[in-house]
Amino acid sequence: MKKGLLIVLSGPSGVGKGTVCSVLRHRMPELIYSVSATTRAPREGEMDGINYFFRTREQFQDMIARDALLEYAEYVGNYYGTPRDFVEKTLASGKDIILEIEVQGALKVKEKFPEGVFIFLTPPSLDELKQRITGRGTETDDLIDHRMNVAVEEMNLMQHYHYAVTNDQIEAACSRIQSIVTAEHCRIDRNCSVPVQGTEAIRESMR
Ligand code: 5GP
Repeated sequence: MKKGLLIVLSGPSGVGKGTVCSVLRHRMPELIYSVSATTRAPREGEMDGINYFFRTREQFQDMIARDALLEYAEYVGNYYGTPRDFVEKTLASGKDIILEIEVQGALKVKEKFPEGVFIFLTPPSLDELKQRITGRGTETDDLIDHRMNVAVEEMNLMQHYHYAVTNDQIEAACSRIQSIVTAEHCRIDRNCSVPVQGTEAIRESMR
């Protein structure tokens, strides 16, 4: 069976990855979302098992020790990681899965899955990004500065991704991502494990 696509979506904190993912959920209901584990405290309205698996540091260390995470990274003082089993089973069943993760983790995934599709969501400007983080009202001033510094460092690693999508307007950004996924499914190297060569072989394979 053809394996599903592993799609990684990164981008600085506040760029709107969460909103993009929730719009994509409606537009592409066939796409599966990986739920990460984190040691960060839940924000208002976030639910365990839906937004994240909220875990203690000890529980997280235990997952690392059991090799239960495909990747993990420390980000602004907390651990975040992708449960391995779910990703592997989803891909094996032929379904596409999207991981919304930060850059260090994405680069680790790229080493393990070079055939993955790596998309970087960028803000229209750094000023706009700061306004979005501040407007969220969930972070202290120090944390906002920290997230802005991390954001610039993350954008410096954009070159390791296959696609850059500007989140200037949410629906437009989602349309670009949908187009990328469609195009990736049409790639010759994803559709023919052995390239069909010769006119007779082509006739045979198209019967
Ligand atoms: P937040 O605290 O704003 O929910 O997430 C902070 C950052 O952690 C975001 O950039 C988010 O994409 C990233 N993140 C979420 N889950 C994971 C994960 O499983 N692994 C890694 N490496 N980063 C993650």
